Amino acid sequence: MNLLARLAVKTSAAALVLTLVPACGILGNLNHYQVSDDAALGAEAYPELLASETVVQSGADHRMVNRLTQRLVAAARELDPAVANQFDWEVRLVEQDEVVNAWCLPGGKMAVFTGILPIAGDETGLAVVMSHEIAHATLRHGTERLTRQDLLTQLIEAGAEAYADDAETKQQTEALASDAAHLLVSLPFGRDAEIEADTRGLMYMAHAGYDPRAAVGFWERMSSASGPAPFELFSTHPSDERRIERIREALPAAIEAYEQSLGSR
Ligand SMILES: [Zn+2]
Repeated sequence: MNLLARLAVKTSAAALVLTLVPACGILGNLNHYQVSDDAALGAEAYPELLASETVVQSGADHRMVNRLTQRLVAAARELDPAVANQFDWEVRLVEQDEVVNAWCLPGGKMAVFTGILPIAGDETGLAVVMSHEIAHATLRHGTERLTRQDLLTQLIEAGAEAYADDAETKQQTEALASDAAHLLVSLPFGRDAEIEADTRGLMYMAHAGYDPRAAVGFWERMSSASGPAPFELFSTHPSDERRIERIREALPAAIEAYEQSLGSR
């Protein structure tokens, strides 16, 4: 059974528990997946998620997204080589003007939706979003979240593994694989993970030569733009005020890194 199908089995059992247990702080940063699992999960889910999307293939925005991603990934590779060098990073700009979102799958496969470009404003504004997403991948929040789900599932369904190997279940789980791919990008991360991605993301953008001070303005614009949609950038996020406060705390170190990166250019 492939990784997505296994994920589907675990996810269907864990879905109910997840609605009851939104965060499980005692587990900390526990992750029982290998870094290579992150890469495999992302590589399987990526085509599934993009299959029905219109991908922008040319133009100024397309060039900006590619250039920006290249610079940020280079920074992530330098700062977090043990994980970032194991990923085959990719990005697609998706034509959906009403979708104010971006995501990065485990393993570094990313999507940026055209709807976020007006809020990003410019390349530096978009660097805030993309560095945050890249940090979710290098910090391995996706498989950390799956680990938590898996453990919860095992708590309520000790027999799930054996049950998952019969033919009928195999068929069902294959049908669920597409849902599982979508869950990879629709289930929320915890608030701690969001703060962690913000802080690490600031260092990536600073290192790549983008002014990290842009993060404050970006999240202010996001907070006035946010609607009811459960997108990655809006979901279970720390309250906007708290988030911006934490970003301000992390800024001095990031500004120093930014100035160093300017000096070395
Ligand atoms: Zn996030």
